[in-house]
Amino acid sequence: MIRELAGALIALAAPAAAEPFHLIPGAIPAGKGPDGNTIIFHAPNGLVVFDTGRHPEHAAAILDYARRRHRPIAAIVNSHWHLDHTTGNWDLRQAYPHVAVYASNALEGALATYLKQGRAQGDAMLADPKVPAAQKAELKRGRAVVDHPARIRPDHVIRRSGRMTIAGRWFDVHLSRFAATEGDVWLYDRKSRTAVVGDLVVGIVPFADTACAEGWAKALKAVDRVPFVTLVPGHGEPMTHADFRLWKRAYERLLDCTRGPAGKAACIAGWQKDAAKFIDAAHGDYVARALDYYIDHRFRAPEEQARYCKPLEG
Ligand SMILES: [Zn+2]
Repeated sequence: MIRELAGALIALAAPAAAEPFHLIPGAIPAGKGPDGNTIIFHAPNGLVVFDTGRHPEHAAAILDYARRRHRPIAAIVNSHWHLDHTTGNWDLRQAYPHVAVYASNALEGALATYLKQGRAQGDAMLADPKVPAAQKAELKRGRAVVDHPARIRPDHVIRRSGRMTIAGRWFDVHLSRFAATEGDVWLYDRKSRTAVVGDLVVGIVPFADTACAEGWAKALKAVDRVPFVTLVPGHGEPMTHADFRLWKRAYERLLDCTRGPAGKAACIAGWQKDAAKFIDAAHGDYVARALDYYIDHRFRAPEEQARYCKPLEG
């Protein structure tokens, strides 16, 4: 009886203990900025939080998980500086002042360029009485971290790929230069054979706002060489390795299309077909609109590629 009881208790505890990582999915709502996915690993010294989202509700979900599991947040790893992956750093730092933050140093160039321009555009929107209050709250939250970058800045700068411990747990830490941003950090956890790759993979459509298209293709090749079983993208559902290869191939075909003579509509239709498995019905129009912009302003804009395939300078 006691053995049965012990067995039942182990069975009850097993799902949580066996969970290789905890995913807090980021939403991609219409009319609002997205939140990146957050992936949480348990480490000897506490929790390792990969990306922290944009909105306060997302940060609250991370803090709530830590409280429920009675574990402190020991470290944050930011895949890249985009505000849908870093804004929550400040919420977590306020709750856990000793949290260690790991990221590339790409934020510095972004502060002098992309984020500076974004702040000016945000100010114009804040002055516009037609902009809804919810959007203004989001803009103000973004502006606060741009004005006080120490709130999100790393205190451990990742400058190269290598195996290292974070909060006492071993990870293969990878740095891909000039891909979705100037410095994209991604992790491979050998124990669970999980790769968490930030926006190097975004299910519905590559978010190419600060993309070096060529470097991105190279980064996807590097990801493919890792023997992961599960890959968690920056946005969207976890993928198998076979799914990732499908997505990678869709990206390569999109890149080929934008380099050739085909019309923009054909390249968009090609992506929608090749990546159909990752595009849900609710985001069909979103994908078409996003690609329409990215093809003109990034993939087929040589001056933008020149800008994003080298360090950003003010
Ligand atoms: Zn993102």
